Amino acid sequence: MYEKFKDHLIKEINAIRDGGFYKYERIIVSPQGAEIELESGQKVLNFCANNYLGLSNHPELIKAAQEGLNTYGYGMSSVRFICGTTDLHKTLEKKIARFFGTEDSILYAAAFDANGGIFEPLLTGADAIISDSLNHASIIDGVRLCKAKRYRYQNADMIALEEELKKAQTDRFRLIVTDGVFSMDGNTAPVDKIVKLSEKYDAIVMVDESHSAGVVGRTGRGVSEHFDIFGRIDLITGTLGKSFGGAIGGFTTGRKEIIEMLRQRSRPYLFSNSLPPMVVNAGIRMFDMMSETNELQDKLHANTDYFMKKMSAAGFDIKPTQSAICAVMLYDAKLSQEMASQLLEEGIYVIGFYYPVVPKGQARIRVQLSAAHQPEHLDKAIAAFTKVGRKLNVIT
Ligand SMILES: *Cc1c(COP(=O)(O)O)cnc(C)c1O
Repeated sequence: MYEKFKDHLIKEINAIRDGGFYKYERIIVSPQGAEIELESGQKVLNFCANNYLGLSNHPELIKAAQEGLNTYGYGMSSVRFICGTTDLHKTLEKKIARFFGTEDSILYAAAFDANGGIFEPLLTGADAIISDSLNHASIIDGVRLCKAKRYRYQNADMIALEEELKKAQTDRFRLIVTDGVFSMDGNTAPVDKIVKLSEKYDAIVMVDESHSAGVVGRTGRGVSEHFDIFGRIDLITGTLGKSFGGAIGGFTTGRKEIIEMLRQRSRPYLFSNSLPPMVVNAGIRMFDMMSETNELQDKLHANTDYFMKKMSAAGFDIKPTQSAICAVMLYDAKLSQEMASQLLEEGIYVIGFYYPVVPKGQARIRVQLSAAHQPEHLDKAIAAFTKVGRKLNVIT
């Protein structure tokens, strides 16, 4: 019975490969960090992880995870509302709210679930969701699960957003949703302006801080800190899988009535397993570290500034960034692949992105900076970019 379906799949997979869209996975045989070892035995400097604060392999977090494991065991074997809630889960939810200056928080297995489970419990067909065109896949999927009317505006375009808000005035409630930082360009959403428009057109505001939390703002408190708008964003979603340790887990934080409703009705929360205690305990330690010192943010911001300045001085075409994402523009898909592969030979691990991940003719290499990078790592990367860039006539 499977034969026909198998032929169909093979054809589809071949089409993906022929189109040049096939995704290969590179195998790492060391912990995640500034320097990693590949299966080939090659040691490379990693500039493509979301390990912005360098916490993926941090001794304090490993210790906290081990303590969580020793004290509370391996797994919870339950969803939260049956028997999957420990005091650790409640503590972490409080710490997340304190960090973001919000009222309450709710944990999920991932930010994908937080976004997947946020719209449907809150809005109906009488309501409107107004979404940035570059929002993350999980927001798009979450919106699909909800009956609310959909409006879309071009990335960070406030004139376009205002147009959509006007169109949505006849709907019952309006929710504007945006990523905090857009992962391909590294630009921050103009959330200060979004909040102003939301006040003018009576809308609630949701920001997905997955790429911005821990990074943006002097102490890493995300777009609320960057724009000094604490308390004016109604809903924030985020991940524990990027800046905040890089393991697993997501959250929604914001107005307490909204969080209360999500605990009652959000399907990925109600029908999916509770986060393991080791992850939760490490999360608690991580937020404690965040409130003790800004050292990691200071280092990350300094690393990003240094890298941007040196790469621009070397002649590269770099998109302006307000995050730790640095897009080195090449405009040609093949060139982006060739350059990434030659950089790997030089010991620098970066990824070239091209259509359909970014618009046609906008191919680039995305560099992600980390507080784990030491000055010599940055210098080595800049030297490798310069060498390969000259060879491929990207710079002169
Ligand atoms: C990475 C990311 C997610 C998904 O986070 P997970 O916790 O890995 O599911 C969601 N939204 C945005 C904007 C992201 O960048």
